[in-house]
Amino acid sequence: MMLTVAKFGGTSVADFDAMVRCANIIINRSDIRVVVVSASAGVTNHLVTLSQQLLSGIEQQQIIQQISDIQYAIINQLHEKQEAGNEIEEILAHLTELVGQQNTLQTAKTADAILSCGEQMSSRLFARVLRQRNCAGAYFDVRDVMATNSLHGKAVVDTDALQINSQTLLGPQLQDVVTVTQGFIGRDGLGNTTTLGRGGSDYSAALLAEAINADDLQIWTDVVGIFTTDPRIAKRAHAIGEISFGEAAEMATFGAKILHPATLIPAIRSSIPVFVGSSREPEAGGTRIMETVASKPTYRSIALRRQQTLVTVKSPAMLHASGFLAKVFAILASHELSVDLITTSEISVALTFDNPQGSTQAVITEKVVEELEQLCDVQVENNLSLVAVIGNELLRSRGVGSRVFDTIPDANVRMICHGASDNNLCFLVPEGEGEQIVQTLHDTLFV
Ligand code: ASP
Ligand code: MG
Repeated sequence: MMLTVAKFGGTSVADFDAMVRCANIIINRSDIRVVVVSASAGVTNHLVTLSQQLLSGIEQQQIIQQISDIQYAIINQLHEKQEAGNEIEEILAHLTELVGQQNTLQTAKTADAILSCGEQMSSRLFARVLRQRNCAGAYFDVRDVMATNSLHGKAVVDTDALQINSQTLLGPQLQDVVTVTQGFIGRDGLGNTTTLGRGGSDYSAALLAEAINADDLQIWTDVVGIFTTDPRIAKRAHAIGEISFGEAAEMATFGAKILHPATLIPAIRSSIPVFVGSSREPEAGGTRIMETVASKPTYRSIALRRQQTLVTVKSPAMLHASGFLAKVFAILASHELSVDLITTSEISVALTFDNPQGSTQAVITEKVVEELEQLCDVQVENNLSLVAVIGNELLRSRGVGSRVFDTIPDANVRMICHGASDNNLCFLVPEGEGEQIVQTLHDTLFV
């Protein structure tokens, strides 16, 4: 039996009609046995606001009401309104309680419990929509299998435990029912709910696919696949039919917002092909991401990642010295900062960091700078964008550098990284120039 895990994102389960479209996809493909859903569109954002404890009691109630309205728009179209309503009311009551608790005792633990409510509700309702369409959909609490550590907000999954739990709890029911479960959430060893980080449902689905030895992972979203670049930047951008794991991993890391960047890790590790398509237009095809693909164009796509920070550390002591970089990285690691790009000269090193506004990930703080300054001179520059040209044999093909940079002769290129990956050439430019550069490159390289 072919075994497919299908994940439906927030817009795909935004309302009743959207859920019905997803149900139809599942009904038409008997190999889809596990369904992972996000919270209905907008719900997680509301929950984040609630979890940040910035609101008055009345504002909290208003937001809970908005969340409730999104659920009831779906419930009201179900045959079993009463039962569905009861199920959701129970979660909303729990949510209200958690939000109330937070005023006295705000912890990351409570925040995760709050954030998990969106997926808990959407998965219950989606299982009902499936059953209403005569498909045996069975609700399953993913926390029973998704074992994580206690790092609330970005919990790390214990893949061995996940595998064992899934074989025991999910394995036996795969033939008989379509399991409907949640992305994004897990449970730690203390029994507390955890979350895997914003957008983590894709990653959950990939981990589940790996745990049950699925043949295929499908990510259903609101775009017909992965595009050559952001169509809002370059009008001629188009969907890519197929792309290799290597290229897609670079794309996900460097800005294409389609997949959570960690999604491909389990897929690559376990050679599970990934399909990305639109639940609105399933017949429009999508992008297949696989270990090896037939077409290997030099230029596959261009990604733009905004809000980059460039840190240059400079130390005359580095001349002919060893161990300097190790010290720099030790400081960064102690602050859980992850470096994206790096270039070095004899006495200085330039490092880039992703620094998106409103993100929960670690950023370069004054404290980090102070610690680095104990070692060396430090310069921090913001307002930069990273342009990543993704393709094949970029290191081995002649003329790639001149082709790319001759196309944008006036660009103020602040840093270039080329040499580590055959699938990626990337460079930093001032924030305000990024879009124009991507547009020009796209329209020249993809004719
Ligand atoms: N609902 C979560 C979020 O919006 C997880 C996800 O949708 O992937 O971040
Ligand atoms: Mg998403």
